[in-house]
Amino acid sequence: MITQVFTFGYGHTCPYTGDSLADQYATVVAPDKEQCRALMLAVFGRQWAFQYDSVEHATKGGRYPMTEHVRLTIGPPLAPPADPDVWMAAARRGLDYHRIAAGNVTGCGRSMRTGVVGKRSEAVADREAGRCRRCWPDGEDGAS
Ligand SMILES: [Zn+2]
Repeated sequence: MITQVFTFGYGHTCPYTGDSLADQYATVVAPDKEQCRALMLAVFGRQWAFQYDSVEHATKGGRYPMTEHVRLTIGPPLAPPADPDVWMAAARRGLDYHRIAAGNVTGCGRSMRTGVVGKRSEAVADREAGRCRRCWPDGEDGAS
């Protein structure tokens, strides 16, 4: 994702608020410059002045102070951290937590007939549980 800055001039007014856009700019975040520009055109038509790579460029290093009018982003919304159910052999501290697989067993083949199931975040925070390396052989459990 890249950020582009689009400045407005004295002749420009916001089509939504009706306010003058003099000395203001829009910040647009998208995969590339072309998509930034396309979004800007879709939202403001031709009612903007110039496209820059940064606020520093747009303001000539701050010599022309401007305020941000709007911030637009193309792309997926920020996903909340994954917090799946995990299994532990007992409600004790310091045990590993395991991936729940099909058939009432863990990813490493342990039976889940006993033990406890809960959110991974709680296993980590409340029970200081560690990740089972056999359930997540790649080393990642998707936690962020
Ligand atoms: Zn395991």
